[in-house]
Amino acid sequence: MHDDVDKDVYDDNTFYPKLIQDLESARGLVLIQSPYLAINRIERLREPMVKLIRRGVRVCTFVRLPDNWNSPNIQAQEEMARIRGDARVLQDMGVHVNLRPHKHEKVLTIDDHLLYDGSLNTFSQNRSSERMTRFPVRYKAIAAIKSLELYRCDQCTAQRPLTAFHDDDELLQQYIGRQVCKQRKLLSLSQCLLGKIAGVPEKTIVELEKGTRNIEVKTLIRVCRVLGLELMLADWFLTPVIQRFIDKPLKH
Ligand SMILES: [Zn+2]
Repeated sequence: MHDDVDKDVYDDNTFYPKLIQDLESARGLVLIQSPYLAINRIERLREPMVKLIRRGVRVCTFVRLPDNWNSPNIQAQEEMARIRGDARVLQDMGVHVNLRPHKHEKVLTIDDHLLYDGSLNTFSQNRSSERMTRFPVRYKAIAAIKSLELYRCDQCTAQRPLTAFHDDDELLQQYIGRQVCKQRKLLSLSQCLLGKIAGVPEKTIVELEKGTRNIEVKTLIRVCRVLGLELMLADWFLTPVIQRFIDKPLKH
């Protein structure tokens, strides 16, 4: 009975080899809440992190912003400078770093299928004895991401709200509108002409682009057909991978 329970618990020695093995299963998104950073540990994880990022997986990290981060106290300032320096090393590897106040939980998720939850700081673990429990369980990974708001990476959500986690439907409507507008301009079509070809009133195109209209799916399909845009429903954690290919500069 005990063996069954303990096989999913990893300590400060066994965690990293298992994690590195698990990271190979990542297809889109690795989220890490490591309240503390230490340069030695970051450097030891450089190779697997760079490997992940090179094959298109996004890594978003959430680090604790100290309570006294803006204190004039010299020690507080030195500590803040150290955190920013360590964060820059991660950013140079291509890891997104978010500084958040009061964060103390230590978790790591891979796509939507794996959660590590425990007492170990992935990016600062050194000598203390810690444990991490590994849950290869979808609903647990999603619940952790939701409750800790790990989907709110400043750099990721600046580009696109995630349908799976945002309640603000209008934000997504606006995103769709911007994409339609961008593609229409790329093809040098006026709103009027796009409407005519798609068989949709110009007013609908205007409102669609503004994100103010709750457009029918059929209408959206017709507009996308004219624009050469593909409508696709994809797993949310694949969005970073897909986004890399659809972010194209607007040509004039
Ligand atoms: Zn991110």
